[in-house]
Amino acid sequence: MTDSQHRDVLVIGAGVSGIYQLKRLVDLDFDVEVIEGEDDLGGTWYRNRYPGCRFDSESYTYGYSFSQELLDEWHWKELFSGQPENLRYLNHVVDRFDLRGHMTFGTRVSSMRWDDAASLWHLTLDDGTERTARFVVPSLGPLSAATLPNYDGMDDFAGQSFHTFRWPNEPVDLAGKRVGVIGTGATGIQVIAAIADQVGELKVFQRRPNWSSPLNNAAISKEQMADIRARYDEIFDNCATSNGGFEHVARWGFWDATADERRALWDHLYTQPGFAILAANFAEIFLDEEANRELSDYIADRIRRRVDDPVTAEKLIPKDHGFGLQRLPLETNYFEAYNNPNVHLVDVTETPIDRFTETGIQTGDTHHELDLIIYATGFDAITGSYDRIDVRGVDGLALRDAWKDGPTTYVGVLSRGFPNLLMVAGPQSVSGSTNFPRAIETGVDWVTGLLEHARSNGITRIEAEPAAEAEWQTEVVRMHERLLLRNSKGWFTGYNSNVAGHSNGVVRYQAYFGGAPRYRKRVAEIAEAGYPGIAFSSVLSVETSSN
Ligand code: NAP
Repeated sequence: MTDSQHRDVLVIGAGVSGIYQLKRLVDLDFDVEVIEGEDDLGGTWYRNRYPGCRFDSESYTYGYSFSQELLDEWHWKELFSGQPENLRYLNHVVDRFDLRGHMTFGTRVSSMRWDDAASLWHLTLDDGTERTARFVVPSLGPLSAATLPNYDGMDDFAGQSFHTFRWPNEPVDLAGKRVGVIGTGATGIQVIAAIADQVGELKVFQRRPNWSSPLNNAAISKEQMADIRARYDEIFDNCATSNGGFEHVARWGFWDATADERRALWDHLYTQPGFAILAANFAEIFLDEEANRELSDYIADRIRRRVDDPVTAEKLIPKDHGFGLQRLPLETNYFEAYNNPNVHLVDVTETPIDRFTETGIQTGDTHHELDLIIYATGFDAITGSYDRIDVRGVDGLALRDAWKDGPTTYVGVLSRGFPNLLMVAGPQSVSGSTNFPRAIETGVDWVTGLLEHARSNGITRIEAEPAAEAEWQTEVVRMHERLLLRNSKGWFTGYNSNVAGHSNGVVRYQAYFGGAPRYRKRVAEIAEAGYPGIAFSSVLSVETSSN
């Protein structure tokens, strides 16, 4: 092995978190390489090219905050920027800070083996090359392992078909086509609304409806952008104080307000941009069933007012969970799409999909003739991208076995038995449940601090201690169980009918729901106290003690 195949730090993934992690480590003169499986950078914004794909965080709260120059020069053109622009932004960041040379594209880490004697990870890439690294920082993104359903005859379908995450790079001609969309999560809701007017006929195969409310997107003028630039410090300060990492601020007092006052607030919030309807609402809606039910009834009425056919409207209103108790999709003219005579809702709970055929999908007595099938069927969220790498820790322990019933971690960064694996946006961190870039800046900065601590103290081995991990598990479960979302099926909790063992009723505690400020305070305290809960050692001290 040549020197060039060994790194101080190997980062896996060149998405939003991998880019920022690389920037921090390059600035500190670490010998670092990023391995990216796709042919270029951008992660989620490189892969999700489906029509309608855009932020649902306000664009200016999604951008990185680390560079004043970057903040001063970038003009977000829309309140909720679309995928092409978001990918341009990430490329701009990488080029501006000259980071591309540290990135290797088009090859995936297929396996990793921990060598305890040498305190090193041995990595095998699927292009046949190998690396060793003292530390590995997986920056895999919570939603990068796309899943397909498993229906009879799927391979028989002769038309074009793909998952939204694999929407082709080249343009897809939708004009006049008979299109089927399977899935009505945040992705399905975006793509359905975006293509309803373009296609010949659209069949939406819905199993469970999702709540959804208006995104209220708008253009950002030069003058508005100048104002945003002048307020960036204030904006990021506001995001830092809110649980979700947004500018919206929640309030208490649901029961102190009259029903008319609550309704007036909701009339206002329904027209406000982004997650205002959730994050600027009464905090009781997440905790109190009656409060949540009243809001859910209000949103249901809104849906009824927007959909012409009452039967379709009822099918679009969730009955199995309350508003905001799964990840809320935001929409632009989604409900109105069903008023379009070429758009049809197929309720596959009522009439399940029997099989795919060469020309379409059979449900009961009906055969739906299709030219194109779009799978908006979601992800093996948060842990799925880890499971796809064969990670072997201390004594050959497989990470996918260790996490079989759900991940266990110390503050979402370390997992016992897997030393020197420092996860950014990992399971049980706050990144799965809040405005992603705000959360990953916390995660990356903390991991960077840990790496600096190791370097300056000659530490070669970092591992979570059992008691600390158990304590974090208790905190994760407690924060989850106090919320009404504890009863919902969603990717937060690992629910996914397309992944074996992930829809059997066992909750996988995959995300931290204590809110961003609580998480940030906790990890800051740990760093300030010299990292209690983490066992540090060095190859040298191991050798010395065995002599
Ligand atoms: P998702 O929320 O998991 O939704 C998947 C959909 O596919 C659900 O409606 C699900 O139905 C359906 N489905 C899955 N397997 C099926 C099967 N075998 N047969 C029939 N239907 C099936 O996935 P997603 O929509 O891709 O969204 C995932 C997350 O990505 C979002 O929650 C969000 O965090 C992120 N996202 C963000 C944005 C943004 O605006 N920034 C946009 C899109 C996505 P069931 O509910 O019945 O399982």
